[in-house]
Amino acid sequence: MKFFNQLGVSYFANRHLKHFITDLKSLKKDGFNSILHTFSEEDMLYSSGNVRDMVKASRDYGFTTWINPWAVGRVFGGEALSNFLLENPLAWQLLSDGRRYPTACLNNPSFRGYMEKWSDAATNMGVDAVLWDEPRLAIRHKGKKTAWGCRCPYCRESYEMKNLRAMPMIKMDQTVIKFRDDTVKSFVSDMSIYVKRISNNKTKNSVVLITSAGDLDRCSGMDSMASIKQVDSLGVGPYWYWMNNNPDVYKLSYSAAAGVKEIAYRSGKTPHFWLQGFGYKKGTEGNARLAIKAAVDAGVRSLWVWGYRGGEMMSTSASDRPGIVWETIVKTLKSVTNSKPQQPK
Ligand SMILES: [Zn+2]
Repeated sequence: MKFFNQLGVSYFANRHLKHFITDLKSLKKDGFNSILHTFSEEDMLYSSGNVRDMVKASRDYGFTTWINPWAVGRVFGGEALSNFLLENPLAWQLLSDGRRYPTACLNNPSFRGYMEKWSDAATNMGVDAVLWDEPRLAIRHKGKKTAWGCRCPYCRESYEMKNLRAMPMIKMDQTVIKFRDDTVKSFVSDMSIYVKRISNNKTKNSVVLITSAGDLDRCSGMDSMASIKQVDSLGVGPYWYWMNNNPDVYKLSYSAAAGVKEIAYRSGKTPHFWLQGFGYKKGTEGNARLAIKAAVDAGVRSLWVWGYRGGEMMSTSASDRPGIVWETIVKTLKSVTNSKPQQPK
């Protein structure tokens, strides 16, 4: 019996059904049973039907299907551009240094309306779950200075209603930190309620927060996400790719996996773990084995790989040797049997 009850992978950069089915068969042979389809603004505008056909094919082949709002409004994680921001310049975030920043504000009614349309399109495809993927408000660091979002009129009004005083101009005090956390929480909560309502409770909600970053950059905490009733699964993505200091991959991965499992179990949700599947330098492919071992030792039984075949479909984040990365991941996953989770030494 296999240790993992869910093995998934993200799939993007191809909208050709015939080629997708070839990949799908290969994934099935390699032991995967779940797939995440990215659904960007460009997809929504031009390829909605293609994504729907790919979701249907995935289900026909027995896969559990997830979908994410890939970089929609540049609010979520992902490498895609935003037409919403071009058409709605007043919905951009306003940073504490007075700059308009090209990321949609989570409190802006136009953006919330747009996300409802996105949710309508996504759930109509019959996906099993929506992944709210790294939602956050903007923060920019320059030397010792930090500019944070958002001070737009909607955010200022919301802050003033809660705090009965004007929002700080520059200083990011505890009330601002809490306001940013509350904003993400209320956004994910409202969107999750909406998804459950329009799908008659058939579509689940998952959330993953930026993991390899400080609390201020992450914006919201896992405990806040865990407190949302309509969220079914909580995830971490401890990608060392974004870290400068050459971290201990096993330690980083174990700590993230054990942490999310603890919070998820406490709140009656399913934990999941995103394995870095992109951006491997030549000779570092063995890190995939360490991260998988860490997830297993921590006892997280839902593992997802971002993304398919070592990221070779996107040159900016591709691995030096994507084929070897993918082979290492698949071979390691196949070798994991239903052994007991272990405490790290
Ligand atoms: Zn705002």
